[in-house]
Amino acid sequence: MSGKSSTSRDPVCGMDITVADSHYSTTHRSLVFHFCSEQCRERFTQNPALYTGPRRTVDIRPIVKRHTLQFVSPASETLRKASDKLLQMMGVTVARPGDDDLLIEYDLRQATLAQIEAVATSSGLVLKGGLHGFRRDWWRFTERNEIENAADAGSGACCNRPPAKLH
Ligand SMILES: [Zn+2]
Repeated sequence: MSGKSSTSRDPVCGMDITVADSHYSTTHRSLVFHFCSEQCRERFTQNPALYTGPRRTVDIRPIVKRHTLQFVSPASETLRKASDKLLQMMGVTVARPGDDDLLIEYDLRQATLAQIEAVATSSGLVLKGGLHGFRRDWWRFTERNEIENAADAGSGACCNRPPAKLH
């Protein structure tokens, strides 16, 4: 073995991964990509074009999302544990328990509402349906478009900012 360890950039979060220690990888168009976590690998495999195109998601500015998730009569202990688990997710910056809800803030480039809901559910919380369910459906739907538009903004077609100098 040579003493030199090669690294590979996680295309989702930008972290440098030591290839020899990599636990999460996938092959896309004969290229092997390495990831820091299953979460990043999943983000990649859902839409590889977003992370391999000319304007990579890791290079676009953070897309901060903030939502309040409501639950059916949650125990405060369960809310607290779910909050701890969510804060361990890549891209989640806030997971603040309320009486029967969680305020969450995250960077859409690294985490999606669907992934956050899955972690909350696996922690034993039951998401509210009804109007709240419809709103969550809408949030998930708009997220898919939003991340794709952001990665594709080089065309300028969707830009409502005045033209800025490149820096
Ligand atoms: Zn990562």
